[in-house]
Amino acid sequence: DTTSLTLLGLGDMGTALARAWLAAGHPTTVWNRTPARAAPLAAAGAEVAETAADAVAANDLVVVCLLDDASVRAALADADLAGKDLVDLTTGTPAEARARAAWAEERGARFLDGGIMAVPPMIGAEGSGGYVFYSGSRPLFDEHRAALAVPAGTVYVGEDPGFAALHDVALLSAMTGMFAGVAHAFALVRDEDVAPKDFAPMLAGWLAAMAGYVNGVAEQLDSGDYTRGVTSNLAMMVRGNATLLRTAEEQQVSPELLTPFMDLMRRRLDDGHPDEGTTGVVDLLAR
Ligand code: NDP
Repeated sequence: DTTSLTLLGLGDMGTALARAWLAAGHPTTVWNRTPARAAPLAAAGAEVAETAADAVAANDLVVVCLLDDASVRAALADADLAGKDLVDLTTGTPAEARARAAWAEERGARFLDGGIMAVPPMIGAEGSGGYVFYSGSRPLFDEHRAALAVPAGTVYVGEDPGFAALHDVALLSAMTGMFAGVAHAFALVRDEDVAPKDFAPMLAGWLAAMAGYVNGVAEQLDSGDYTRGVTSNLAMMVRGNATLLRTAEEQQVSPELLTPFMDLMRRRLDDGHPDEGTTGVVDLLAR
């Protein structure tokens, strides 16, 4: 399968996508607001369109990878989308994806939203582990799956066009928490005689070992029994938090990344759940 396709957006990610499709033999028409960014791709065999509307007219399969949803709306304003298969790989919120899907369908296009779980160097690199969450039109996904699988793996998560963004942002949000923990840990050891490079493998190993925690949370949420399989209970962990905070103080490190989560653990404990783990915090977060 070497379906021809159009790609709007030649930032770091769009350029990596275009290179992957060209390398796999897919005739690719590209467009970028700032035309200079298309030159290296023209040299690699891409057709360069002068306007976004021309680029859209060139192929049935149209992929967009722009800064944000507002730039997608702006770039496609003058394009005729009737009969097109629009795949939006721009990061956005679930509500933005749902609104963009309705907007595209009103213009006669089928719509698939994507959330890219990879950085540009992983695109088109065999075995990189990078993939894209897709949601929206299942027929579009099935028809173009082979082309979509060229730059990265494909994971279809549902007909609701908001689901790709929902999954994408949920993973990024968890990653943000991990980055916060990593920053605090390095801040603790920083001014001591601990080389960051010696500490890093211990920290990475610990985080990898703790990843299984996710499955325990899922089982507890499924069963509704938040004490199931708990090995460290909330009462014990809240006591332990005091040691984490005293250590931060000793090391003259701000506790500001730790305290929001610790406050929620304390609230759940005070609500009378000493034998749970931390899953009850999920309930506290629901607005
Ligand atoms: P860049 O900042 O490198 O590129 C942004 C692109 O959007 C450029 O092509 C830019 O055009 C275009 N653009 C911005 N505003 C407008 C507008 N109003 N009208 C038309 N075009 C516009 O971003 P990336 O390529 O890195 O990212 C693209 C998308 O991919 C984003 O949604 C990002 O979240 C997502 N993504 C990126 C990852 C990464 O690691 N880079 C990882 C996962 C997802 P111009 O050249 O003219 O400025």
